[in-house]
Amino acid sequence: MDKNFQEEFTQIIKFEPPLYKQRHQFVKDLVEKYKPKKVADLGCADCSLLWMLKFCSCIEVLAGLDICADVMKEKMHRLSPLPVDYLQPSERSLTVTLHHGSVAHKDPCMLGFDLVTCIELIEHLEESELKKFPEVVFGFMAPSIVVISTPNSEFNSLLPRVMLYRHPDHKFEWSQAQFQSWALETARCYDYSVEFTGVGHPPTGMEKVGFCTQIGVFFRKYPQTGESVQSEEPMEGVYKTVFKAVYPSLKDEKYLQNAVISEVIFTAQIIKYRLMSKREEYGDDPERKSKFQPSGMDCFSDCLGKLVVEKNMEPFISGNEVYIPLTTIFSFPKVNRLCGTFEKLCKLIAGKVTLSSDGSAVMLSIEHENEEN
Ligand code: SAH
Repeated sequence: MDKNFQEEFTQIIKFEPPLYKQRHQFVKDLVEKYKPKKVADLGCADCSLLWMLKFCSCIEVLAGLDICADVMKEKMHRLSPLPVDYLQPSERSLTVTLHHGSVAHKDPCMLGFDLVTCIELIEHLEESELKKFPEVVFGFMAPSIVVISTPNSEFNSLLPRVMLYRHPDHKFEWSQAQFQSWALETARCYDYSVEFTGVGHPPTGMEKVGFCTQIGVFFRKYPQTGESVQSEEPMEGVYKTVFKAVYPSLKDEKYLQNAVISEVIFTAQIIKYRLMSKREEYGDDPERKSKFQPSGMDCFSDCLGKLVVEKNMEPFISGNEVYIPLTTIFSFPKVNRLCGTFEKLCKLIAGKVTLSSDGSAVMLSIEHENEEN
């Protein structure tokens, strides 16, 4: 490499977005592509990658592991659910757990993951830990995909102020050939394939140097059989759980019930409001009255995206009450999707919403409407 050319670059190489963000975005893209449900981040440090991943809707279980509890605790509160998560529980379930421990040790809490990420971790491992790492991650955890990123030492000459290593805690930094030979051997031992890529492009004309951060994406070649998972001897956990958050989810019956009750009342009130407006429009003229019954439904079926309306599902007014059949309410997509079956709808609202004596319709009083007018 031309020395002058090299020196010129050491002054100007600056990644935009910053390299750590590019690494995290790489993982996020991978998650969006392969849609893993359970993801573990080893050497999660201040949990910034985990925080980014909690917004990926395919993920139901997120776990972090680090040998330094203090660094995890710094910002772990950001992994807690927010008030909005309680106001509008998500359809997916999500549990986030942080463990204190070493990747050199096996713990059963790390079993069953689909994706394991090790971003800028291996270069922090002591020789003895690095030796145990493949057996723990590929042999024991054996997820479908493992992502390992590590500095590419060949790029260091282009970085300003890097003398030996990029960080004082790095125990080594590998060239592309060193990383690739370690990764290929590890993949071969544990029946994985590996693809090499990276983030942080080298400057034009210096492509040989490779990416600033080199990345290996490992794919398990054969599916894990239930047998091999279960054949593990029951073993004691060695990690210490330092954080656990279970997000409110509609998969939890108590949140589902609240959501269904709110949606049923909201839907019934809109139907009542429309019905009352029609009644005002057509007055009590018996000939025109029918217009605010069956056909009157069409105008709001659009705005709520109502499913097929059958004649016998029509709401009606009797005395001071508006009767909205549950079958009508069930035909609204949001209620339908939340409950799944009509029986479930009935079960969830039983005793929580005022129903007609035969239990077939939601009853709303028209009194308040008149008082307001
Ligand atoms: N993954 C983070 C940063 C990694 S820095 C990111 O993407 O930004 C490396 C982290 O690995 C540090 O937080 C360090 O405490 C942790 N670490 C070092 N040795 C470890 C070990 N044996 N087991 C688990 N974590 C370890």
